[in-house]
Amino acid sequence: MSNKPAILGGIPVRSKPLTTRKTMGDEEKKAVLEVMESDTLSAFIGGPGAFFEGGEKVQEFEKMWANKYGFKHAISVNSWTSGLMIAVGAIGIEPGDEIICSPYTMSASATVALFYGGIPVFADVDPNNFCLDPTSIESKITPRTKAIIIVHLFGGVADMDAIMAIAKKHNIKVIEDAAQAPGVFYKNKPVGAIGDIGGFSLNFHKHIHTGEGGMLVTNDDDLALRSKLIRNHGENCIEAMEIEDLSNTIGGNYRLTELQSAIGIEQLKKLDAIIKLRTELAEYFTSELEQLEGITTFQTKPNTTHAYYIYPFKFDQKKAGMTRNQFVKAVNAEFPQAEGFESVPLVEGYVKPLYLAPLYQRQIAIGKNGFPFTVNSDVKYDYSKGICPVTERLYESEMVLSPIIRDPLSIDDIKDLVQAIKKTLEHAKEISNVLKSKINSTDVLDSISTVNATNIK
Ligand SMILES: *Cc1c(COP(=O)(O)O)cnc(C)c1O
Repeated sequence: MSNKPAILGGIPVRSKPLTTRKTMGDEEKKAVLEVMESDTLSAFIGGPGAFFEGGEKVQEFEKMWANKYGFKHAISVNSWTSGLMIAVGAIGIEPGDEIICSPYTMSASATVALFYGGIPVFADVDPNNFCLDPTSIESKITPRTKAIIIVHLFGGVADMDAIMAIAKKHNIKVIEDAAQAPGVFYKNKPVGAIGDIGGFSLNFHKHIHTGEGGMLVTNDDDLALRSKLIRNHGENCIEAMEIEDLSNTIGGNYRLTELQSAIGIEQLKKLDAIIKLRTELAEYFTSELEQLEGITTFQTKPNTTHAYYIYPFKFDQKKAGMTRNQFVKAVNAEFPQAEGFESVPLVEGYVKPLYLAPLYQRQIAIGKNGFPFTVNSDVKYDYSKGICPVTERLYESEMVLSPIIRDPLSIDDIKDLVQAIKKTLEHAKEISNVLKSKINSTDVLDSISTVNATNIK
């Protein structure tokens, strides 16, 4: 059999499409039907009283999540973006407060600060775990810093001991965005509430989901109460509930429905098995990748687990003899056209560093006059290219992600991926030369534009 790369006209490693993810089973269908028959699709009422905290399924789902991991409070929300906004409000962010954020994450992990007039200040990530680097965090602290939003990216864990030590030293709050890391442990502690408050996303693309949704967790009673006020029209409740501190108690409607909660209960029962399978696939993939020149796998620290939301590795263009984007393009050509993002074998770069978005470049967020960037009139915020060199390098040339280290695929599927990668690296020079010489031909350029990872959220 010819070993010619598919991108140069050879026979692809694989012709059979990858099995797509099937998330809803008979259990979810039955649970939804029961709620339908009860006719109570939501039991929330936007005022004080028995239904301020929602109905039966909402409360059952929350209790189940809290008990499974030992969180004191689990508070369901209609999206994790809502959950993050609530967290920012609950910890008491005010206009002009600075919040240290990661630039290498889904946009909401930083924009949520803005809704309360908080100003995202970006620190760089650690090249080994892709989460905020404690040293960089410390270098960004000013007298105005009130919080850090750390992101447990790709299902891995940030360096929590160091981050909590910094937070304690400077008396700042820690929000954990664990959207991609449900069921992940750091030194036997479940991520999400190692800091003050945090939580998980339940959107369709996450490990488990309720279509849209999220789960906020905290071990702090006061933060839990303030979160519930923001979730559900707090302004209507503060009198009856005798809330003294009115700040940030105006609520929205960030409530999850009974239908979604019924689905969530069944989904949560499946989470451990999903993480177990992903871990098996990932460990096999790592053992193969480790042997290849030009690829650096990441190491999970002892005493931490990983949920493998997406599998990250680093690519060395010099050692491999081809660019990262050529590599990704050539590997993907060894597979049939993907049906949807979750079947794309490799993706390059992840998201563009957040501070390069027009929002930060032009510093226009709320209204037309630069609020909240202008609140601290003596401070000029810098979002220019170059402020987070590690993130920029990962984005531009080093980071490769595989979204196919996922259920319900098997080791055999990953073997095809490994074979496609080996074949590509063996022909690196040849592929690189052909693609380079064709760089001015539009049809090749079109085919070079690989799937962008901006949609992974
Ligand atoms: C998915 C995701 C979010 C947003 O969650 P939604 O439920 O889609 O609102 C926030 N942060 C990270 C890191 C995510 O992956």
